[in-house]
Amino acid sequence: MNVKSTNPPDRQRLSGAASIDLADIGAKGLPLEGSLAPGELDFSEHGVRQTEALDWSGFIERLSSGFRLSGKVVTDLELDCVRCLDPVRESVQREFELFFQQRESLEYAEHDEIGLEQADTQTSFLTGSELSLNEVIQEQVLLALPMKPLCGSECRGLCPVCGIHLNKNTCECVLQEINPAFEGLREFKKQLENPS
Ligand SMILES: [Zn+2]
Ligand SMILES: [Zn+2]
Repeated sequence: MNVKSTNPPDRQRLSGAASIDLADIGAKGLPLEGSLAPGELDFSEHGVRQTEALDWSGFIERLSSGFRLSGKVVTDLELDCVRCLDPVRESVQREFELFFQQRESLEYAEHDEIGLEQADTQTSFLTGSELSLNEVIQEQVLLALPMKPLCGSECRGLCPVCGIHLNKNTCECVLQEINPAFEGLREFKKQLENPS
């Protein structure tokens, strides 16, 4: 992606809770960048832990109708393996392009045919003039993560009976479940050894 290279003095550096007022976007657009320390965005309800700074950059510009925001998010995160619950590290590097339009009310947008058409091209609607960059950044990071993170494709997970970690241990309940045929063999062997 092309974050149209711009003169560094124009670049607006934001940290912490970042939002911008769309009314401030001039004809030349506005380059943006920032860095969010772990904890500045709340990923807890998504089972994600941010372990490194989250760096982002972007460029927002006015279109004939609405705004276009292109940008990039880069960070490292930790998730839980869906099978064994061990931590899994994920490096995120995602580029994005989004469109925004201001509306009197969101209800109106839902019933508006043009609005529906443009929803296909990832247009979001805003009621005010304030755009929360933090929300955009958090959403883009979440979109970059795997739906079912695995510590490795060979992960054996947890025993469904006793809960033991099968990558590190074995347990009796697993043996019984996997090999019911051995029960019959053991009986047979017993009969050979002790004929009655
Ligand atoms: Zn695992
Ligand atoms: Zn078990």
